[in-house]
Amino acid sequence: LTNYGGIGLIKEEVLPQYPFPPYFKLPDLGFEYIVHSDNIHSNSSKELNEKRMRNYLRLYGVDDEQKIDQIITDIVNLWSAILNITNSFDEDLANCEVLSVVMDEETFPLWDSYLEIAWNGTQFDLDDENTWPCNYFYNQLDKLCNANKEAIANYFALKFIYRMDARLEDKKFQTEHCNTMIQFVLPHLLDEIYMEEYFDNETRREISDIVKEVRKSLHEILEQAEWLDEETREQALLKEAAIKPHIGRLENKNVTNRLIRQINEFHYVEGNYELNLVNLFKFRTMQRRFNGLHHKEYDNYTMKPLELLKGIQVNSFYYNVDNSIYVMAGILHPPAYHKAWPAALKFGTIGYLVGHEFTHGFDSVGAHYNSVGEENYWWTAKAGKVFNEREECFVNQYNAYEITEIKRFVDGNQTKDENIADSGGLREALSAYHRHVKELNLSPKDEQMPGLELTPEQLYFMGFAQLWCASYKERHYWEELKSEHAVEKFRVLGTVTNIEDFSKAYNCPVGSKMNPAKNKCRMW
Ligand SMILES: [Zn+2]
Repeated sequence: LTNYGGIGLIKEEVLPQYPFPPYFKLPDLGFEYIVHSDNIHSNSSKELNEKRMRNYLRLYGVDDEQKIDQIITDIVNLWSAILNITNSFDEDLANCEVLSVVMDEETFPLWDSYLEIAWNGTQFDLDDENTWPCNYFYNQLDKLCNANKEAIANYFALKFIYRMDARLEDKKFQTEHCNTMIQFVLPHLLDEIYMEEYFDNETRREISDIVKEVRKSLHEILEQAEWLDEETREQALLKEAAIKPHIGRLENKNVTNRLIRQINEFHYVEGNYELNLVNLFKFRTMQRRFNGLHHKEYDNYTMKPLELLKGIQVNSFYYNVDNSIYVMAGILHPPAYHKAWPAALKFGTIGYLVGHEFTHGFDSVGAHYNSVGEENYWWTAKAGKVFNEREECFVNQYNAYEITEIKRFVDGNQTKDENIADSGGLREALSAYHRHVKELNLSPKDEQMPGLELTPEQLYFMGFAQLWCASYKERHYWEELKSEHAVEKFRVLGTVTNIEDFSKAYNCPVGSKMNPAKNKCRMW
């Protein structure tokens, strides 16, 4: 199932770090409605997931409605049993996923067979990192599977069909779906065409200037943070000075060309949509594993995550292992950037995103990688303690945000690094903007958008907020719960609540919701 791009009970991921070993995460149970123990029996969950299963079973020729009911009940019971195992781990589970690839623990007995199944018989060289501290969980899961073979088989079959199903609401979306599929499966080929057509040197130059301005602000902030001791400050400034920006995408002709040439291995069958679809998914899975399968041919300096080669994607990154930020060409469009916008809007959008990525070098993960990307905690114990206190402020702030639609709270701990990066990024880009205005002597009149009666500062914050404008249905909130990013609404509210300049720009009185008198959080 994994080889064909499906997801079973264990989700395969590849660690974004040389030698790119595979590791296994917990599954998202359910179909368009991800089930958790507190929603598994809710009406929306039942309606969406059960309807989905019922329709597939009917389409595939099960005509006995009682049998269908039985199959569905067995699958839902199976989910409950899996969730019981998952819940007995509580918070340790996240640790278990991450640590499984780096900790020196007893080897999990089924590890070899998982690798063999997932990597098609390829014994992946994990060096000495062939370790697994989550034995208990996977052993329990294994027992459960043995006791419920029919339910497991039915669930996997339905899940595979779901994966292959385009699920279009209307025929008119067919073309768009085909385009998306090709982009999903053959990104490196499309990327060549995309970069040629949509990315130019003028854009590169402008983004490069914005990156320079934001970097100056980061430098200032690190110099002025009164809570850092001199030893840590020195390390921080060293790290800042060494950050390499990549604008557009990571250029690696050798790997890109190899990935494109692999298309020869895609098996096209004339006139057979279903088989082609299956082959496309299989091809994509093989491509995704390129680094892991070929890591011996490259060294750890040239081999980077394949994600970084795809300029077409709407994203930006900070990559700890080579202390670099990546601003992908695909994100350089509205609402993140347009060359005709006033500087206030550019800094509030792409400027903030750049600042966000820079700041990841100085969050709780970045603290463990030094200026050349080696794993090395570079903070003194004293400064590290203050860091933890300030971090705690963010954890508490975001823990208090309730997603009323599903009666759950944001997980402040899980989202803390992203929230710290948001706050840092928005401050850095604002001071970069102020410096930019002075340097170019821009008049406030030129810094407005026609039709909007907003001051430049108001426009700056509006641009930031609009980046995260999102429309959710209930089921999307459940999907988002596992993300390191808080739900968009709280990314915006949480970040601006911490920034005094926002309150000034929008006249929020002290003590109002957006301008609390105390407990504002600040790292950078
Ligand atoms: Zn981030």
